Amino acid sequence: MSSASAVPRTIAPHDVVMPPRSNERFREVLAPDRMEALERATEQARALLDGRVVWNVNSTAKGGGVVELLRPLVAYARGAGVDARWVVIDGTPEFFTITKRIHNHLHGTQGDGGALDDEARRVYESVLAANLAAFPGEIRPGDVVILHDPQPAGMAAAMKAAGAAVIWRCHVGVDEPNAVVRATWEFLRPYVAPADLYVFSRAAFAWDGLDRERVVVIPPSIDAFSPKNVDLDDDTVRATLAIAGLVAGSAEPGSVTFERADGTPGRVERRARLVEDAPLPPDAAVVVQVSRWDALKDPIGVVRGFAEHVPADTCAHLVYAGPDVEAVADDPEGLRMLRETVAAREALPEEARARVHLASLPMEDLDENAIMVNALQRHARVITQKSLAEGFGLTVAEAMWKARPVIAPRIGGIQEQIVDGDSGVLLDDPRDLAAFGAAMTGLLDDAPRAERIGRNARERVRARFLNARTLLDYFEAIRRLLDDRERSVPTTPARRRAPAAKSGAAG
Ligand code: UDP
Repeated sequence: MSSASAVPRTIAPHDVVMPPRSNERFREVLAPDRMEALERATEQARALLDGRVVWNVNSTAKGGGVVELLRPLVAYARGAGVDARWVVIDGTPEFFTITKRIHNHLHGTQGDGGALDDEARRVYESVLAANLAAFPGEIRPGDVVILHDPQPAGMAAAMKAAGAAVIWRCHVGVDEPNAVVRATWEFLRPYVAPADLYVFSRAAFAWDGLDRERVVVIPPSIDAFSPKNVDLDDDTVRATLAIAGLVAGSAEPGSVTFERADGTPGRVERRARLVEDAPLPPDAAVVVQVSRWDALKDPIGVVRGFAEHVPADTCAHLVYAGPDVEAVADDPEGLRMLRETVAAREALPEEARARVHLASLPMEDLDENAIMVNALQRHARVITQKSLAEGFGLTVAEAMWKARPVIAPRIGGIQEQIVDGDSGVLLDDPRDLAAFGAAMTGLLDDAPRAERIGRNARERVRARFLNARTLLDYFEAIRRLLDDRERSVPTTPARRRAPAAKSGAAG
């Protein structure tokens, strides 16, 4: 690992401590046969993985969709008696510039315009070598390593050499790869190729040039019990929104309590930053989109589509809610998009402007932010996700779980989630504002249809997009993988060791 000497500072990967969570809780939301299937699989997984560690490796412990997915999965796996751990790799600014570039290129955009050249390879490889050298825990033969996304993908060969079964889990993808995307596959393929399995969110996202036999599709899923998705009664919804200043009304800051993702109690105390003429009337029919301030989420299209194509006599209001980018210094793109959206709102005629509310949700406490999103989605009559591109679109599943009808374009993973007319409404052209407005008006005017679609949406998420299903998918993929290995190298001993505590790694 001589290249590690080129790394300018100490690289310190760390493990994330996840308290185990019992699968029992799924009984509240799963049909009895699904619960039984989960219990059976859990039993098998415990036996199969006894003495092995399932390592998850990614590049951040805070924020982003991968963390939303990983936290509950690691916790439930541990609750099932599997020694699942989570290691977050470290990097230099150059490394993260390159991995951000890779991320943008995988979406087909140029990002910072920099190249994925030999110098990029040198930085990428040397940082990963340093992470391997300082890895918090010992990878042993028979362990399972799941590398999430491109950042740690270059560790696959070393993990294999240590005797682990290696899964590369790619959370990004596009429907139609362009030349930039394909060039990035070329860059990454040598790192990814040694893995035993490649997991993608959709079949269409699987890369050319990877062994199809080793490709597995596992769609993302949501945690029904997190602050983002847990059931809330109407009083809690109203009080949460009133404290945040998202609807007119009074409620004492701190008067709403909730269970945080880590099980400790939290309180709703902060206010959202709002751009509006007057607070949202509590009884108004509300259309909501929750998204980052990002051009691909098309906030300006959402504002204009609503203002120009949802008639005033619906009396509906629009809330576009995103993270508070003025409070965080590291999202200049988000700040620019927010300002452009504010300008687009300002340009509206007075009547339409009065019905458009832009909300920046506080980000100091991510669980508090999550419960505000939850309350807002539950307060909505109709939810939109008018993205121009979307890998999966977790917000869609989140809204569907709350039995809300979602209007979204027929793109990316949204197509897996919504069955048009049955569990949501799909738009053929994400840029067609008239069709977008007509779909909204149609749902606002037809409450029984909106309710029927909402009910179906919740059942679709129950069947396909709760993380009980993802646990089953991973258990099945790992079982297949270990069976195959056993067949090809029958002498490989499944090494035995005592559970997590003995080796000292906390995760
Ligand atoms: N989100 C949030 N607060 C916000 C805006 C977004 O918690 O102010 C969450 C949203 O609920 C979802 C995630 O960020 O869980 C966004 O995931 P998605 O797949 O929809 O889009 P991405 O932002 O990853 O492109």
